[in-house]
Amino acid sequence: MSDLENVVVIGSGPAGLTAALYTARANLNPLLITGNEIGGQVAITNEVENYPGFPDGTTGPELVQLMQKQAERFGARIEIDEVTEVDLKQGSPFRLKTNFKEYQAKAVIVCTGATPRRLGVPGEEENIGKGVSFCATCDGFFFRGKDVVVVGGGDSALEEGLFLTRFAESVRVIHRRDQFRAGQTLQRRAFGNEKISFVWDTVVEEVSGNGMVQAGQGKNVKTGERAELATDGVFIYIGHLPNSWLFDGQLELDKERYLVTDKFMRTSVPGVFAAGEIQDSHFRQVASSVGQGWAGAIECERWLAEEEDRVYPGG
Ligand code: NAP
Repeated sequence: MSDLENVVVIGSGPAGLTAALYTARANLNPLLITGNEIGGQVAITNEVENYPGFPDGTTGPELVQLMQKQAERFGARIEIDEVTEVDLKQGSPFRLKTNFKEYQAKAVIVCTGATPRRLGVPGEEENIGKGVSFCATCDGFFFRGKDVVVVGGGDSALEEGLFLTRFAESVRVIHRRDQFRAGQTLQRRAFGNEKISFVWDTVVEEVSGNGMVQAGQGKNVKTGERAELATDGVFIYIGHLPNSWLFDGQLELDKERYLVTDKFMRTSVPGVFAAGEIQDSHFRQVASSVGQGWAGAIECERWLAEEEDRVYPGG
């Protein structure tokens, strides 16, 4: 068993890196355990144009690198490892197991984020990287001059569909209803884009291909009619699933399996805080995750200071 840590931050997206920065500045010597890859979802985003402080935009990998450097500058320790088991129910100190080690921590900040939801149809999993993608900004470039489909009717589907028009010859948006959930501005832009067309009331039942995607099998949910939708690529944007399996039976989850937090980023267990997309299905922006990571860190500092009966230092 390793020494007792003050704070372990689980996850290395913008929320986790910000929580590490602030707890480091409060002299808590935090340990951040990255998960599979450093940076989370933003690390695979090409352009970030809406994060304040970058008037000319930046890339996801660059933003992550800068956030990491800033957290490390104040003493955050960043371990490339994955937490595989937690024991939070007994209270602080909490126990965590990773692929390589075991830890004890007085406080934990959970920033494990969310993962794109799958359609769960035949051919989807097998064709990931061969035409099926969950990230237009990562893979759009490979579809220059091709015909692609986007599945979904929310902001992400339309935003990424619009992005794909930079490369693809045509983009068909397939939605299971006859109305989009996406905001009006995105709808206006999508309807006004001559490369984008729409397939309503249709669910994708299968993705087929021979090494590369060639078609999606669609079914009209109103008429029951089935049709083959020839395509070179299938981009799936049907929401996200929170990475909360580690906390089953230990922390309160909502019906969508997001961690339940109060406005102080406190979970159902005192001393365990959560920030970013693991507890927020609504905003899902780098800026909101950063803010929540900051709030989680500040409240974590306060909680530790109260537990240890010392003055709260602030970040
Ligand atoms: P979302 O709003 O939950 O939309 C998911 C879409 O996928 C919905 O249209 C849904 O259809 C459809 N869908 C869900 N399961 C499906 C299935 N099994 N088969 C076919 N279709 C399915 O997810 P999101 O677009 O990722 O956005 C999530 C949040 O991030 C939202 O709050 C959004 O506003 C925000 N966001 C904002 C921006 C922005 O402001 N620029 C950009 C991206 C995301 P139904 O409509 O029929 O339910």
